[in-house]
This record gives sequence, structure tokens and C-alpha cells, in this order.
Amino acid sequence: MKDKIINTVYPQRCFVCMDFTKNEYNICHECLTKMEYINTPTCLKCGLPVFKCQCEKRYYHFKKFTAPFKNEGAMQKGIYNLKFNGFKSAAVFYGRAMAQIISIKFKKINFDYICPVPMGKIKKLCRGYNQSAILAENTAKFLNEINKTNAEKENKAFNKIIYNEDLLIKCKRTKTQHKVLYEERWTNLRNSYKVNPKYNLSGKTILLIDDIKTTGATLDECSRTLLLKGAKAVYCSAALVGY
Ligand SMILES: [Zn+2]
Ligand SMILES: [Zn+2]
Repeated sequence: MKDKIINTVYPQRCFVCMDFTKNEYNICHECLTKMEYINTPTCLKCGLPVFKCQCEKRYYHFKKFTAPFKNEGAMQKGIYNLKFNGFKSAAVFYGRAMAQIISIKFKKINFDYICPVPMGKIKKLCRGYNQSAILAENTAKFLNEINKTNAEKENKAFNKIIYNEDLLIKCKRTKTQHKVLYEERWTNLRNSYKVNPKYNLSGKTILLIDDIKTTGATLDECSRTLLLKGAKAVYCSAALVGY
């Protein structure tokens, strides 16, 4: 139903260039050939190319990070259209790509919950949706499909990952991250998230999803918050990584 409404508003338009397309993922052939995959060896912890890794200088609360695309070109434009032009259908494409890389890079991890980086109430009210939440929802859907197929092939039990949009709550208003200086980004967010009291995170392994990772400060603060409430480990993913 939801998809039908979206398709009426944007009748099969490419979420990158906005031209008409008949592709099932709403991306035209030309834009598909322009995908900015990450094709250099990356650090498993911060997700940056090995030569840009800063893990020795910075402690991250999450165990590992992975993303399918670089924050540039067509893939960057697609996320922009998802955030600011209502192209929610883009989240199906990105969610699938994220699930694929997660299933490879975090192969042996049994996740209990998947949740998005939350958005402040006012911002969500203005935009109408949290793009990281729709990315997380789609990632969960595709990841469960992949894991189920793999479990059947290997004759193992299938652990379904549960999507919880409201696991984390943004409880403090903060300045927009890309508008503050690099070092301030780490203090800007301090104590601005909390875990929804209806969840018991004790011993849980969590997959945390954002749209774009730049410094990693947002993912780090959310991870710290989850660990404080008893989570066993936090792994992170985003559609794009900037470097
Ligand atoms: Zn296109
Ligand atoms: Zn690193």
C-alpha cells in the first residue's frame, strides 16, 4: 500500500537522476553504471580505506563498521533524494546493498536487534520520516532473507534479526553534525541519546544503522549508549561512508 502511494507520487522515477525508469529498484541503467562501490581494502573497524584508518588515534565503542558505497557521485545524490525529496523507494536499493555487505563482513555474528540512529522529534515531524529508519527496516528484511537462505543451505538454525525503530531515542536537541567543527562533533552529541526503557538489552548484539558515516561520532555515541544499558556488542553500517 505504502509503495503504491509512493509510486503514484513518483511514478517509477530513478531516485538518482529522477528520469523515468522501469527498473524494479527505481534506478535507471545509466545511474546503475555510476555506482561508487568501495573497491579499496578497508579497515574492518572504522570502514575507511586502510591508508586513511585512524583507529589508533580514536577509540570507537562499536566493534566494526561496513558500508557498500562511497559518499560521492550518484550514490550520494540518491541518499540526498531519499532525505530531502521524498524518494523513500531508494531505501529498498540501499537496504539490499547494505544487507549484502553485512552478510559478508559480519558473517559469523548473530544479531538480536537492528535499529536506526534516531532523529529528534521536531526534525522527524518536519521531514515526515527518519531515512535511517527506512534504511534499517529494508536492511533487516533483506538480511533475514539472505540469512534464512544460508541457514537452509548449511542446515543450521535461522536467527531472525528483529527490527526496532524506537530502540534508541534522541532526547536532547543538538546542532546539525555537519555544521560543527570536527572535534566538536564528538562533544556535541554527548548524552543526547537514550535507550527506550521498554527494551532489555542485556547480552544483546545490536546492528546500528545510519544513512552516512563521516567522522563516526554519531554511531559512536549511539553505541556507547547501547553498551551502557547492557548490550553485549554493537556493529554498525551505513549506506555511504565519507573519506
Ligand atoms: Zn538515473
Ligand atoms: Zn580503522
